[in-house]
Amino acid sequence: MTKEEENPDCVGAQEFYAKYETKEILGRGVSSVVRRCINKRTSQEYAVKIIDITPSDKTTPQEIEEIREATVKEIDILKKVCGQENIIQLKDCYESKAFFFLVFDLMKRGELFDYLTEKVTLSEKETRKIMRALLEVVQFLHNQNIVHRDLKPENILLDDEMNIKLTDFGFAVQIQPEQKLKEVCGTPGYLAPEIIECSMDGGHAGYTTAVDIWSSGVIMYTLLAGSPPFWHRKQMLMLRTILSGSYDFSSPEWEDRSDTVKDLISRMLVVDPKQRYTATDVLNHSFFSQYVVHEVRQFSPYRRFKVICMTVLATMRIYCNYRRAKPVTKEVIKSDPYSVKPIRKLIDACAFKIYGHWVKKGQTQNRAALFENTPKAILLSMVAEADEPVHHIW
Ligand code: ADP
Ligand code: MG
Repeated sequence: MTKEEENPDCVGAQEFYAKYETKEILGRGVSSVVRRCINKRTSQEYAVKIIDITPSDKTTPQEIEEIREATVKEIDILKKVCGQENIIQLKDCYESKAFFFLVFDLMKRGELFDYLTEKVTLSEKETRKIMRALLEVVQFLHNQNIVHRDLKPENILLDDEMNIKLTDFGFAVQIQPEQKLKEVCGTPGYLAPEIIECSMDGGHAGYTTAVDIWSSGVIMYTLLAGSPPFWHRKQMLMLRTILSGSYDFSSPEWEDRSDTVKDLISRMLVVDPKQRYTATDVLNHSFFSQYVVHEVRQFSPYRRFKVICMTVLATMRIYCNYRRAKPVTKEVIKSDPYSVKPIRKLIDACAFKIYGHWVKKGQTQNRAALFENTPKAILLSMVAEADEPVHHIW
């Protein structure tokens, strides 16, 4: 029996447990736990976010009141954004003295975060599909002056068809058209520079919807590189790199990426929010107008001829590149194994097997840490730590 079932102190909890049966935990937050649940009558599966508002030794009555108010706001925003196809739908909602129960559609494929951890990096094509949907959601929210403030791969869920569903509106807020925010909230690696500035300078003018574009830029970079643009073991140093907007496309993953995608990211990760692209600017960028695949292909004789010409040209280009390619000698493998693509993939796959993950949640574990080492150091540390339990490594 769960803690919540033991205390059905109020009508809301009793109603919830009369209608649903709770199952295993899907995710946890600071004051919430998300479980799979089943509607007893229809046998339909859902996910329920159970928010604990019981006074305890760890939380003061004031904190409890803040969580309660924040949850009421979260529910209010979820109702306002209901209907957008890439936003999670709130199906049902119950409140008791001790708990809130927010029932959502179940996303069996889980978080984009876990999908990325499994795939290491995504292709530009897959990134385009995800980012287009995400930016359409952001545009939809910003049109209503709603700022999400916690965009990150852990809060983007995937449905059975691999469509994204944005969730966790716990920090979302609706502002007046000219209103600025000063509250410092979000997740460190995804914080826009102006939010960090607000935490350091009480007289700061504040921030607005542009913070979501910054976080979207961080997500886009992470999907393509497999590691985040701003990262340091020491949080202070990471925040400093964000403030100066220092990131680069120097890791080997970027070698095969187009200039178009790099151009778009560099227009999202702009320190000055006034110069930063808006959601509409991002969606109008050529990255999103490229390679529009039409479902029904009409192969006219002209198109067939064009495809043949392109195939011949591509074959010639591949052949020329092949002739120009540097031979992979023993010396190259010894001095810089990570520069050789198949070996790089092999190292990545081996490290993945040992660690069991790449990018890890929280500030202490991150794939980016691996790239701070030289290839030799990575191999040595991999061998040395292979016997250690995964969670002790970092
Ligand atoms: P918090 O505010 O505590 O971060 P979230 O709403 O982000 O809460 O939910 C926490 C985690 O629970 C998510 O990151 C995800 O792993 C899981 N989760 C939340 N909603 C669903 C859902 N509808 N389907 C499947 N998993 C979910
Ligand atoms: Mg969350």
